[in-house]
Amino acid sequence: MAELIDGKRVAEDVVRRVKALTAELLERGTQKPGLAVVIVGEDPASQVYVASKSRTAKECGFHSVQHTLPAEISEQELLDIIGELNADPAINGILVQLPLPGHVDAGKVIQTIAPQKDVDGFHFINVGKLGTGELETAFVPCTPAGSMLLIERVRGKDLSGLNAVVVGRSNIVGKPMANLLLAANCTVTIAHSRTKDLAALARTADILVAAVGRPEMVRGDWVKSGATVIDVGINRIAAPEKGEGKTRLVGDVAYAEAAKTAGAITPVPGGVGPMTIAMLMANTLASAYLAAGLKRPS
Ligand code: NDP
Repeated sequence: MAELIDGKRVAEDVVRRVKALTAELLERGTQKPGLAVVIVGEDPASQVYVASKSRTAKECGFHSVQHTLPAEISEQELLDIIGELNADPAINGILVQLPLPGHVDAGKVIQTIAPQKDVDGFHFINVGKLGTGELETAFVPCTPAGSMLLIERVRGKDLSGLNAVVVGRSNIVGKPMANLLLAANCTVTIAHSRTKDLAALARTADILVAAVGRPEMVRGDWVKSGATVIDVGINRIAAPEKGEGKTRLVGDVAYAEAAKTAGAITPVPGGVGPMTIAMLMANTLASAYLAAGLKRPS
């Protein structure tokens, strides 16, 4: 059976280290890292995520502010708030919770965030830095950055020459994940909805990352013996076995089947999910170190 990659434990390690490095920053007489989270409207899932981000920021010892804005806010008003946060020296990281209401151009909002405060890593400057391997100063999107850390926990830092297959090509997961693996000298293939014979392709992977959004699409016989399987998917499905109307979370990988062949695998929940918030904290800390003229913690 595969080794279970415990994302919750790794995320706790990351948060503990961020907390310690924040304390070191304060000892040098530098201000607390500041994280501003902006949420528009009342989407319940977004509110849960935002509350959790603000809570973890406080746990890390950050200065944490939350802007909860009405769904009817105009695009210009939102851009003005981003402008104020860009200019505020107490703020090192700005996160705008997506999705935004339809009348607001999310792309425009994201590109208004100052690149050095773009801790989600969605600004073109950061996308370009990741694409060109400028990892010293890039902010990398949190979910792929966290997935990479989990891969390194089981494989070590030297991934040179390994075959990696990333299923999914979104800007927030698939593409940055592929770029990170490429920067780590893997031979990377990106698969998507038009890929032919995905199962055969997946079987070539030493590292298989699934970021699709389709419950248990990756079957056990898609997994090469000993492969590291990272399941980014979070899908809520009906669970009649738990009672009428009940649901449960599953990933994009059929866990029980894949775990028989894989060398190591992330569970859902408790795998990649907890890493996302932890990496947001790590990015905000890095931004604070860079703003203070210090080397970014590795
Ligand atoms: P998107 O919907 O933006 O992208 C999905 C990708 O999967 C697309 O590139 C799409 O291909 C591809 N795809 C869809 N169907 C198939 C198929 N049948 N075969 C092969 N590829 C297919 O999703 P995200 O990248 O935003 O998210 C992916 C999953 O990860 C979701 O379950 C999401 O909930 C989860 N997620 C988890 C996070 C976490 O914190 N753990 C954070 C972010 C996302 P094409 O481009 O051709 O359409």
